[in-house]
Amino acid sequence: MRLLIDGAMVWDGTGALPFPGKVLVEGERITAIAPQSETVASNGAERLDAAGKFLMPGMVEGHAHLSFVDTPRGTYLGEIAPEDHALLTMDAARKLLGAGFTSACSAAAAKIRLDVAVRDAIDKGMIDGPRLLAASPELTVTGGLGDGRRLHLHQDSFGVAVDGPDEVRRMARLCLREGVDMIKLNISGELGTDSAPSIAAMMTDAEVAAGVEAAHTAGRRAAAHCRASDAVKRALRHGVDVIYHCDYADEEALDLLEAAKARIFTGPAIGLTVSRLESLRGDNTATGRRWLERMTPQFEATCRVHHEMRKRGIRVVVGGDYGFAANPQGTNARDLEHFVTHFGFSPSEALQAATRTGGEVMTRGHELGLVKPGYLADLLLVDGDPLKDVRVLQDKKRFAFIMKDGVRYVPCEGAPHVRRLH
Ligand SMILES: [Zn+2]
Repeated sequence: MRLLIDGAMVWDGTGALPFPGKVLVEGERITAIAPQSETVASNGAERLDAAGKFLMPGMVEGHAHLSFVDTPRGTYLGEIAPEDHALLTMDAARKLLGAGFTSACSAAAAKIRLDVAVRDAIDKGMIDGPRLLAASPELTVTGGLGDGRRLHLHQDSFGVAVDGPDEVRRMARLCLREGVDMIKLNISGELGTDSAPSIAAMMTDAEVAAGVEAAHTAGRRAAAHCRASDAVKRALRHGVDVIYHCDYADEEALDLLEAAKARIFTGPAIGLTVSRLESLRGDNTATGRRWLERMTPQFEATCRVHHEMRKRGIRVVVGGDYGFAANPQGTNARDLEHFVTHFGFSPSEALQAATRTGGEVMTRGHELGLVKPGYLADLLLVDGDPLKDVRVLQDKKRFAFIMKDGVRYVPCEGAPHVRRLH
């Protein structure tokens, strides 16, 4: 396959201004880029007239939960049979590709092999979806976020409860054996988990160390759910690679994050919070008002911390927690708008978080996330200018194509999916 994309405004993902140009794709890679005034030796490549359109790298979802099938509650995930769950996860992968995301770094699967099976099927070309880094379920402690059990009632959720370093190590090793790329540790609690609030660092130093050591020994990475400041520090102390949320990070935690910024990534996973707040503002029930009162200070803390992250140059990934009923799969591009509205990112900075930083969190910054010769041909050709208004990326009809590994996909009429062009 050889394709000359001719005349688009080319935005390369580095933050440089876009320019009218030509981009040559051969096979799965970008092989040449030139300003419009110059010629490119295209050797008979198919020419695509892209005048008036915007060409950018494919986006990367930095905190994916493809198996959280727009769930109304965590324990609903435990009620889905594995066979059905695999198909639903596959469906979410197709929706994510259709939303312009050509890669996804998972931040937990609801069952151990769901991400693994879908990742492998995508890699083999059996199903359409973004390239995926597979995660384990959320390793949590008894009573922590994701432990949905009660004494009288066994319920599975997205978490696996493990207590003490030996249990954490054993479960992490089991997940690694089954093929995950990332071990997820729930170090802090969460709003709505009464036995483990957001400000509590539930998982002990020894437990965190055991999980990270298991992942690193196997040559894989560890990610962590950390809202509490002590959870952030614990994650940093033991070498967690991707530290999500960080809402209540104090000055010392922010300094430590900054000192580790060449090594770590963060991500607010703000989409779910914004969607829930939007619906709660119209909810006048006592429960609705109570939730609004609880969520608002956490949201304000998230905004404060991620303004700081941006100023300190700490790498922040977009995306997160799409897959709940309030925040459905395929609406992930809303995150860029949230970065601009709530964290003070310019549109270019939000786009860089979704592309260049995304390539890095996929561990493939040397070949993913930029429009650059030699890089993988993951490209979006957009009708509109996201540097003026990032919301254009939320409208799937504006994608003239979504390209992954040099293969073009176009949105399906009336469906949140894509169709492969042959
Ligand atoms: Zn999450």
